[in-house]
Amino acid sequence: MARMASKELEQLKHTVPLEVLAESQGYTLRKQGKDFVVLCPFHTEKTPSCVISPGKNLYHCFGCGGGGVGAGLAATH
Ligand SMILES: [Zn+2]
Repeated sequence: MARMASKELEQLKHTVPLEVLAESQGYTLRKQGKDFVVLCPFHTEKTPSCVISPGKNLYHCFGCGGGGVGAGLAATH
């Protein structure tokens, strides 16, 4: 798992919900049950397969297996 790029991102992780952070980074979120799916930042795809779990502050891509926690998603974008 990649380290956080900066202390600010580390702080954001605790103050901003992951789905809000992702949206602010230009991700288009689609609601799926209690989770959200977005286009994966790790590989090119047309159908979103990267699942954001707001409750756990985690994201995971079912297409390529990439994932991480919280603000790492924004840092990857
Ligand atoms: Zn992926």
